[in-house]
Amino acid sequence: MNTPPLAGGTAGPDALAPLLAAVLDALRTGALDRGGPLPAGGPTTTARRVHTATRPLLPDHGTGPEAALGPLVHALTQGAADPADPLCAAHLHAPPLALAAAADLAASVLNPSLDSWDQAPAASALEAELTRTLARETYPAADHPDALLTTGGTEANQLALLLARERHPAAPLHVVHGANAHHSVPRAAWLLGLPPTHTVPTPTGTLDPAALHHTLTTLTGHPVLVAATAGTTDAGHIDPLPALADVCAAHGAELHVDAAYGGPLLFSDRRKHALHGLDRAHSVTLDLHKLGWQPVAAGILAVHRTGRLDPLQHTADYLNSHDDTEAGLPDLLGRSLRTTRRPDAFKMAVTLRALGRDGLGALVDQVCDLATTLADKIHDHPDLTLYTRPALSTVLFRPTDADDDQVAAVRRGLLDDGHAVLGRARAKGRLWLKATLLNPHTRPGDLDRMLKLVEGHTPR
Ligand SMILES: *Cc1c(COP(=O)(O)O)cnc(C)c1O
Repeated sequence: MNTPPLAGGTAGPDALAPLLAAVLDALRTGALDRGGPLPAGGPTTTARRVHTATRPLLPDHGTGPEAALGPLVHALTQGAADPADPLCAAHLHAPPLALAAAADLAASVLNPSLDSWDQAPAASALEAELTRTLARETYPAADHPDALLTTGGTEANQLALLLARERHPAAPLHVVHGANAHHSVPRAAWLLGLPPTHTVPTPTGTLDPAALHHTLTTLTGHPVLVAATAGTTDAGHIDPLPALADVCAAHGAELHVDAAYGGPLLFSDRRKHALHGLDRAHSVTLDLHKLGWQPVAAGILAVHRTGRLDPLQHTADYLNSHDDTEAGLPDLLGRSLRTTRRPDAFKMAVTLRALGRDGLGALVDQVCDLATTLADKIHDHPDLTLYTRPALSTVLFRPTDADDDQVAAVRRGLLDDGHAVLGRARAKGRLWLKATLLNPHTRPGDLDRMLKLVEGHTPR
């Protein structure tokens, strides 16, 4: 076999063009052959199809590019849970914008790595522009806000706990969060060797300031980080940030807000009031692979003061020697715990510039309005029960007469047919179907179809 061509350099585009044509073709036919949001037939059917398309995955003699790329992209596409389908609405699993995916192609071709300037001159300058912009958007009034890129909300929450821990070297940090917090918060405490976290019950779905006050009175004298949530994963609830910030200030506790889901309300003039108080947090998690329509990964941790990031400073002579730094080469290693790191900033920068605040805000409004439309339809439906009015773009509902096992079976039935992908959530002691609406191209008729499918799978 000839040496395979490279993606970059002046010859790269010519090598890529026929391969991209094959990819685009297989993406098109794979989506047509799927014919819905999910492959029908469940895990066995999909695994068998993938096995057939890949067998053997490591042949003694390679198949060459055409015989591998087209069939495997087809298998990947036909077997995808495609968030671009309006009825793929289980999780905070966003359909990426075409623009962002195209930008990510350039990132893959050039393959800059953000651990040193000599691997990423423009990419690192661009990342600095992006983090500055997002830090300013999160903390409009702060003197020196800053932000880091992460692999998502999980890593951002881990870093938030780590940075809080490092501010109190003499005593263990106690982390307090609502029962509504993302599972990555207590897991981060476990990872960091912190004491088990304190969970405040959240019977109404949000963290109650009086309940938080009660918990903090039991922790007087200890360093405490409170983790609040702006957009819970299950229901999209937004904790009462200003009141929580007041309680934290009164107890000398630090505040982290996990806005992995709700953060982009900042772009919407109609909805940013819901995040009032966000900038009183010491750190904020954002996640633009949710309401931000980016390909994974697009996580961000914003901090109110750049000095909060100091504990991440780190030197490895081959990447950021002191003499290189003194000579003016940017020191990037302290911008992450990772070493080799993709230029995830690039697709986000292209998206922010192309859409602007109003374009992003319109997308956020579109999916939140869709959730209101869906909630209205469920409310008016004779056989469905709505959990509550949506605060973001998530709607929980259930067939009124079904028990929890039947609700779970409705979801699995829809998955097995490949007709709709809905999530599930526990709230008020019951199991609910969850529609997480992130697709701005979804129309009210799609929502009618979704509800009809649920009815069709409900035992009567
Ligand atoms: C999704 C989510 C996370 C985790 O984000 P990943 O990108 O999946 O790591 C954290 N917090 C909340 C509130 C989330 O919804």
